[in-house]
Amino acid sequence: MRIVISGAAGFVGSHMCDRLLTEGHTIIGLDNFLTGNRTNIGHLARERRFELINQDVTETFSVDGGFDAVIHMASPASPRDYLEHPIETLEVGSVGTRNMLEIALEHGARFLLTSTSECYGDPHVHPQVETYWGNVNPVGPRSCYDESKRFAEAITMAYHRKYGVATRIARIFNTYGPRMKLDDGRVVPAFLDQVLRGEPLTVFGDGSQTRSFCYVSDLVDGLYRLLLSDEIYPVNLGNPNEMTILQFAEAIRDRLNPGAPIAFQPLPEDDPKQRQPDITKARTLLNWEPKVGLDEGIAKTIEYFRDLVAVPA
Ligand code: UDP
Repeated sequence: MRIVISGAAGFVGSHMCDRLLTEGHTIIGLDNFLTGNRTNIGHLARERRFELINQDVTETFSVDGGFDAVIHMASPASPRDYLEHPIETLEVGSVGTRNMLEIALEHGARFLLTSTSECYGDPHVHPQVETYWGNVNPVGPRSCYDESKRFAEAITMAYHRKYGVATRIARIFNTYGPRMKLDDGRVVPAFLDQVLRGEPLTVFGDGSQTRSFCYVSDLVDGLYRLLLSDEIYPVNLGNPNEMTILQFAEAIRDRLNPGAPIAFQPLPEDDPKQRQPDITKARTLLNWEPKVGLDEGIAKTIEYFRDLVAVPA
């Protein structure tokens, strides 16, 4: 297939490009580098099946030649990034999604939206199943991301219903791995950076809020399977191995620097209290489940971060 991907220089986007190239596809990657990073795709500079275009997908654009699939991954995704860029976040989920759907419609290409577990907000149903409609604060600090992705899902369904576009929607839960930005504020790079520097691990609140962490290669495998599937309605992709943030901090500390202190800091507003994907649908429909355990995933990720962190002598 010839595939157009927005957010190709992002953390997950760049891994998706690698996977699609391995599968023999040709890629036209789009990125405006708001939060993406050229070094994430630096290794593809000489790859003939990969082309990168500096394109903000909230502006109208066209892509030369035919293509078979469109994958819309562009968006700030860490709370720190979307709090800093709330308008861009709202625009890329709304105008950007519409522009990506338009090119899919025009070319008769299938369309994959990477949505988010944030659609469930601070959930009252646990673990989260795709049929749960969520509990989102529409005017809170996270609303620029949550509502933008909820709009993105809505317009994706509208293009399917009105124009028959072959759409797919993935709801991605917390994912980690190499190429995350060290300073994007998310808990995995934050803790790894702190532990490597010998600084205290900053646990927000009392650390009783839960998350479950999926290694990026597992996620990308799920996304690829979903792209090839016929499922129109959203599919959760994430690792169901749920833990409290305090347990996670202790696991990182015990593994990498047993003496490191833990510093408790205020809990950000609207921080979801619990999150765990119900992946029954992905298991049944895509024959998918995560394979990389936390120890293995953290070991691979720390190797990447070790090179980035200038550890004080
Ligand atoms: N968190 C934390 N310390 C940090 C960064 C994050 O305790 O330095 C917590 C945060 O409050 C949240 C969880 O870790 O409960 C996951 O945060 P992240 O920003 O990675 O993603 P989220 O799941 O909130 O989108």
